[in-house]
Amino acid sequence: MQKPSEKPLLGIDIDGVISIFADGAGLQPGTEPTARAGGRFEYLLIDGIPHCISLAAGERIRRLEPHFELFWASGWEDRANDHLPNLIGVPELPHLELDGKPDDEEHWKLGPIAEYAGNRPLAWIDDNFDQTCFDWAARREAPTLLVPTEPEHGFEEAQAEVLLQWALKGFLRG
Ligand SMILES: [Mg+2]
Repeated sequence: MQKPSEKPLLGIDIDGVISIFADGAGLQPGTEPTARAGGRFEYLLIDGIPHCISLAAGERIRRLEPHFELFWASGWEDRANDHLPNLIGVPELPHLELDGKPDDEEHWKLGPIAEYAGNRPLAWIDDNFDQTCFDWAARREAPTLLVPTEPEHGFEEAQAEVLLQWALKGFLRG
């Protein structure tokens, strides 16, 4: 385990990562988790929107927690801590403030993420990266790892393993 000051950051999106299928629109009627999504699911309404919460995603986050400094990188903002600690057993985490910073030129989370991360090593798991995210990651001097998910599968085991190995092996890829 790294010393706290040496831990990399891990930004965690929620819709499409923990809440599968959601991709911002909520669970669609009639959809069922795939076998690939794995594990157990909690179906519930959150603020009137149906969600399918992957408990396996929560287990993976808890497994990574000793090796990263976690934060929510999600439009849920502070509402993440209202719901997810009880649902998936993760601690309350810092969250990005994403309001009021729309920018057509780059991904809507990039500015706040860049500001939050400063020059620290950063991993970020999200189902909705665009090219501006990958370009930004390539330009960063600090080690940076973007981990895409597919919204219908959410946070899968292979992605947890990639993140763990990246943290344990000095941020080397592959
Ligand atoms: Mg998302």
